[in-house]
Amino acid sequence: MKQTYFTAGPAEMYPTFERHLQEAVAQQLGSISHRSQKFRDIYKFTVEQLRTLMNIPDSHGIFFAGSASEVWERILLNCVEHESFHLVNGSFSTKFYEYAVSLRKFAHSYEKPFGEGFDYGEIQVPEYAEVICVTQNETSSGVQMREPDIHKLKRSNLKKLIAVDIVSSAPYPDLDFDVVDTAFFSVQKSFGLPAGLGVWIANDRCLTKAERLQKYEDSTIGAHHNLPALWKNFKNYETPATPNVLGIYLLGKIAEDLNTIGIETVRKQTEEKHKVLSKYLENSQVFSHAVAEERHRSRTVVVANTTKPSAEVIAAIKKANMVIGSGYGPAKDTQIRIANFPAVSLEQVEALIQEMKKLEG
Ligand SMILES: *Cc1c(COP(=O)(O)O)cnc(C)c1O
Repeated sequence: MKQTYFTAGPAEMYPTFERHLQEAVAQQLGSISHRSQKFRDIYKFTVEQLRTLMNIPDSHGIFFAGSASEVWERILLNCVEHESFHLVNGSFSTKFYEYAVSLRKFAHSYEKPFGEGFDYGEIQVPEYAEVICVTQNETSSGVQMREPDIHKLKRSNLKKLIAVDIVSSAPYPDLDFDVVDTAFFSVQKSFGLPAGLGVWIANDRCLTKAERLQKYEDSTIGAHHNLPALWKNFKNYETPATPNVLGIYLLGKIAEDLNTIGIETVRKQTEEKHKVLSKYLENSQVFSHAVAEERHRSRTVVVANTTKPSAEVIAAIKKANMVIGSGYGPAKDTQIRIANFPAVSLEQVEALIQEMKKLEG
């Protein structure tokens, strides 16, 4: 029996995934050379669709990695000589910070408890931090940082670079890439594709920094997928290593489908579904919002406290062929997570709520 996945990644496949996959097989994309015109056309198409969808200007290159967590390392190696600064409020932002420590950077952090979010006004950026690392959508706790706060943070620190993790929200956030230097996501979250492709968006300021660091004899920007190499290849719509051609093709097609709907409509649909879920949580006897502040509630990953053990809830929902996630880490038993990605419709969200209601009283 077919399941509907409300998990936060891997997640429900986008409805057109299967059709595009069949087309990719028909076109024998598994066999084409990544130095062929056919591949360059695919890379270019995906870039064009993402530029339209996410309003990414030509100042930014779009590169491919194995996953988003690879991009954490790329940003830290290529854009940080000594010091990074991290907003930390959950498992993923913690890992970004820990990557910096592992790479022997002097990593500063401003931490908030699990379930709490950041507002611009309270953030003090250390003077010598070179990159401000922000997790726009903290998937573990369901906390978002609103775009205007991110933009203000950068505008008041113009000499620093800002890196934004939009792994489990893209393309929903309306980021202004005139101020955001670099951002990244993985395709197995909101784009509804199988895992195995990370997307790195970075501007010429990141490149300039990487080129400067590359000349230093006592440090390294890494050998694999460093930004100067990615950028040099990108100019011809090529990649330094043999890439995930299938993933890049599918991402371009899904982005095209989302562009056909229109990003404004995609955002409205996301908000509509979020509202329905929120309203249910507000009135439920079993479930309640895990994130207290409405403005900090993620629009794409809804996290709820549950009075019944999460395993019991998940099992009951599973009987109706729907899959939801447990809480993350220490919240595993006491919370559930529900992804609100474009691949699930309002009707599917309503069907999920009907099942959750059966657990009441
Ligand atoms: C999933 C996730 C990552 C890591 O992505 P991978 O594709 O597993 O490398 C990073 N940040 C956030 C916010 C995520 O949700």
